Amino acid sequence: TERTLVLVKPDGVERKLVGEVVVRIERKGLDLVALEMRTVDRELAAQHYAEHDGKPFFSSLLEFITSGPVVAAVVEGPRAIAAFRQLAGGTDPVEKAAPGSIRGDFGLETQSNLVHGSDSPESAAREIKLWFPSL
Ligand code: ATP
Repeated sequence: TERTLVLVKPDGVERKLVGEVVVRIERKGLDLVALEMRTVDRELAAQHYAEHDGKPFFSSLLEFITSGPVVAAVVEGPRAIAAFRQLAGGTDPVEKAAPGSIRGDFGLETQSNLVHGSDSPESAAREIKLWFPSL
């Protein structure tokens, strides 16, 4: 079994898609281990997205992720990392995410793409420690 960090980003919360995302996680058979609404400060945002530091969209990404509350969750199950990335769909909701995925069904923009899911076991461990240090 494996754990992954999931975020419903500010656009997803604003659009009232938290329930939709949770339903899809649960319907897939994954378990919720932790679930919390959080407002992200600049420091957490920069740490979370450290790998994108220096990219042209980095400052815009920090603005976006700190623009309103997010819902953070730790999700567990067999191959949870890949399973949630399948549920989310590709980064660009139009060019990459298939219909039937969260981004494919509800998203239009690459930055405001509704959800985040860890992309590897190393990222998952790092992100879970960052968001839920007590776990
Ligand atoms: P996440 O890590 O949030 O699950 P991802 O792994 O699909 O997304 P990454 O390439 O790690 O995508 O990018 C992280 C986030 O940065 C994206 O989800 C998106 O919000 C934003 N982003 C990525 N590429 C761009 C871009 N070209 N322009 C604007 N925003 C971008």
